Amino acid sequence: MKYENLKEKRGILIGRMQPLHNGHIQVIKDAFKEVDELIIGIGSAQISHTIENPFTAGERILMIKKTLTEHGIKGDKHYIIPITDIMNNSVWVSHVEMLTPYFNKVFSGNSLVQRLFTEAGYKINEHIPFNRRILSGTKIRDLMINDGKWEDLVSKSTVEIIRKINGIERLKHISLKE
Ligand code: NAP
Repeated sequence: MKYENLKEKRGILIGRMQPLHNGHIQVIKDAFKEVDELIIGIGSAQISHTIENPFTAGERILMIKKTLTEHGIKGDKHYIIPITDIMNNSVWVSHVEMLTPYFNKVFSGNSLVQRLFTEAGYKINEHIPFNRRILSGTKIRDLMINDGKWEDLVSKSTVEIIRKINGIERLKHISLKE
């Protein structure tokens, strides 16, 4: 397995996190039980201002950084790295490797991501699925558009950032236009 003999254990977990919610936080905390350092890749980093991807990579960086601090996870234990999509799945892992420090564990529940990293020689840890009936980015974005109660499903820091950037207004406006 790639980099398996390295002394340090560094994992990677990639997700769009639109927005970061309590399910993602649990997955991140579980991943930390198995590694010394964690790379959190912000997937589809180039996309923002759409109903499915309303927040920019920069806004998502802030949500993750401030939420991890809120949960007592120290900044010197993780790297938050935006990862843009590319047209070629077969070279996507090389693209990820170019953008990140080397790692020897991959946390993913997505079969395509698992497949691409396995073919590139990495060990996959299937992360424990969160309860999608309660926690889902799609559901949270829907609650935001329809004046539902979304605040308890994300961290206090994420609520603050979304308020600061007028995120709800953005999402509602986009949903009218699309
Ligand atoms: P994602 O789009 O963040 O997640 C896909 C779906 O799985 C979402 O509905 C997500 O829920 C859900 N999910 C994520 N973690 C979960 C968990 N622990 N339990 C239950 N459901 C979970 O995609 P991803 O697979 O996590 O991240 C892959 C990223 O890599 C994407 O941005 C993708 O575009 C990118 N990628 C790019 C290429 C390329 O450029 N060629 C190739 C492969 C992958 P939430 O909506 O609630 O988060």
